[in-house]
Amino acid sequence: MDIFQQEFALSQPALRVSFGPGRRRTLPEEAERLGAQRAVVLSTPRHEGLGQELAGALGPLAAGVLPRAQMHTPVEVTAAALDDVLAMRADCLVAVGGGSAIGLSKALALRTGLPQIALPTTYAGSEATPVLGQTKEGRKTTITDARVQPAVILYDAELVRALPLPITAASAMNAIAHAAEGLYARDRNPIATLLAIEGMKAFRNALPTVCRDPQDLEARGETLYGAWLCGTVLAQVGMALHHKLSHVLGGSFGLPHAETHAILLPHTIAYNAGAVPELLQPVAEVFDGDSPGKALHDFARRINAPRALRDIGMKEKDIMTAAEIALGSPYWNPRELNLQGIAALLRAAWSGDAPLW
Ligand code: NAD
Repeated sequence: MDIFQQEFALSQPALRVSFGPGRRRTLPEEAERLGAQRAVVLSTPRHEGLGQELAGALGPLAAGVLPRAQMHTPVEVTAAALDDVLAMRADCLVAVGGGSAIGLSKALALRTGLPQIALPTTYAGSEATPVLGQTKEGRKTTITDARVQPAVILYDAELVRALPLPITAASAMNAIAHAAEGLYARDRNPIATLLAIEGMKAFRNALPTVCRDPQDLEARGETLYGAWLCGTVLAQVGMALHHKLSHVLGGSFGLPHAETHAILLPHTIAYNAGAVPELLQPVAEVFDGDSPGKALHDFARRINAPRALRDIGMKEKDIMTAAEIALGSPYWNPRELNLQGIAALLRAAWSGDAPLW
């Protein structure tokens, strides 16, 4: 596939990425490099232990640990954490965890202007983007703002070793979704396309090994490399049907983020494949299938990713409502969106059937 484009524009945020097993131990140096003297460590309640470990390593540079992060970044959680951050006189935010911990850090950075260091423990990719999703009164909205981009990312494969295999598979499909939709983005560029293809290859190469041996540090490292590349695609180009639909199911029906992405991806990509066959050809090639949707569906089965929305709590009666919400606010997509098509897509994803297209 020729990825040369005659015209394009792209922005690259100024950020430092440090990669390697054990890299979290360099956190004190990284904090010093940012001029921090009172860094606050953010985590979810479940991963407070990890937050405490990092605060211990920071020693006198640590102002404390706030284990308050929640999925989808509720604004009331941010408001309470903001009071604590101000009371602690923090001058740097350190997020350890998945998109939830990093989301809280970004929301606090937006309100304080503090620099951030992110240590991701999933493949969601939020650390690589200037994008923040926040939830207020049950509605999730997204903003793009350079202030929310972490200044430093420490990718430490030892931190993802403990990620359970079901979350590993779902989170990997979440990352692959950024790459797959990036391939047909209206504002795509040849660099984002290279990153997308390389990111998908990293997951294809490493995930079978991770599934056999979740402790394999080299394979875990390659999956983190994939997460970084796919997250960078998300940072550079706009998303379409797949992210919109995942957003609707998460925001309006409370379905879990990574699992929803994992289940929808083969279906949304199959829906769009007829409109942009050449742009999606790399998906079929990387995952070795006759069509992009079927290749992703087979890959999801091989890595034991979830495949049916009914298995993660979606009710059959909500299919039509979800389709209506998804079409309620117009947005760009390579294939025209219509109610029957989206409802059919959702029904196949609900049942766990193969993609229709
Ligand atoms: P998450 O941070 O809630 O983590 C998912 C699950 O993995 C949780 O159950 C968590 O406890 C578990 N987990 C995380 N690290 C672990 C570890 N090392 N060991 C064991 N278990 C671990 O969710 P996520 O899927 O990483 O991210 C989803 C959130 O991030 C959503 O709110 C989504 O909107 C946001 N997000 C934002 C962007 C962006 O660019 N703004 C990009 C992707 C995701």
